[in-house]
Amino acid sequence: MIDLHAHTNHSDGKDTPTELVENAVAAGVSVLAITDHDTVSGWDEAISAASSHGIGLIPGIEVSTRALTPSGHGVSVHMLAYLPDPNNQDLISALDKTKASRMIRAREMVARLSKDYPIDFEMVLQQLPEGSTIGRPAIADALVELRIVPTRSDAFTSILHRSSPYYVSEESLDTVEAIRLIRQAGGVGVMAHPLIDFPPGAKREDLPRAHFEHLIEAGLNGLEVDHRAVPSLAKSWLRDLVLKHNLIVTGSSDYHGVGGKDNKLGENSTAPEMLQRIIDQASGFEPLT
Ligand code: AMP
Ligand code: FE
Ligand code: FE
Ligand code: ZN
Repeated sequence: MIDLHAHTNHSDGKDTPTELVENAVAAGVSVLAITDHDTVSGWDEAISAASSHGIGLIPGIEVSTRALTPSGHGVSVHMLAYLPDPNNQDLISALDKTKASRMIRAREMVARLSKDYPIDFEMVLQQLPEGSTIGRPAIADALVELRIVPTRSDAFTSILHRSSPYYVSEESLDTVEAIRLIRQAGGVGVMAHPLIDFPPGAKREDLPRAHFEHLIEAGLNGLEVDHRAVPSLAKSWLRDLVLKHNLIVTGSSDYHGVGGKDNKLGENSTAPEMLQRIIDQASGFEPLT
């Protein structure tokens, strides 16, 4: 099993990088990618754990981006960057900006919440190891600890939902700019869980072909089609796009640990030849194989 999308406590996962690797081994995963949001800080620990357990490790990042679709509305796009150079200054400073903006946004959300609930920012910071990428999951974990909501997922469907008055959006990189930075750092860019926000009643002809073709022209290497959140109509539409443009196609879990999300390690897998294409097209960092 080849699982190329998983989180640790360096962003919003529950496991340390070592625990992630141990859990991947137990789930029968033979090659794992660590893809924390907007950070490379978990790579070193994951690499040592994987080398002592004898599994393959592909270091990566899930980069937060925003795109303006041809129809003119802003959408959040997560870009998986595989094997970029972790010392590439342009990439690192872009990620640092996103992290700073996530911090400001989390503070603002907590300030709004604190008018109605006994929560403060210190409690949220306590949910995370120093230096981890902050997001709504850390706020959710503080709300769970305070017994304001029973689980992290309940927080996401209620007071942390995008339609909630406590919700604040963050600034992030433009998607095309992110693709450029990832490629320039020798990485391979695969769009994570494409079209998960597409309305359930959508028809094939409503899908944003021009938007995807624009990103492919900008250098997008692949699409994570096999992900539990991608609707089945979107999957078949995306597979046609993959064939037409000879893209890399991946399947992954997007595991966040127990109590993080329900996604299980190895629940989707990437074909070995697709992994090989990622390795062949990358030049920023050596994979552990
Ligand atoms: P944010 O990036 O701060 O807007 O928060 C969204 C992130 O929360 C996404 O990366 C999700 O993967 C993550 N997340 C973690 N646990 C959950 C959950 N139980 N429900 C929804 N999203 C979650
Ligand atoms: Fe996440
Ligand atoms: Fe994501
Ligand atoms: Zn993810």
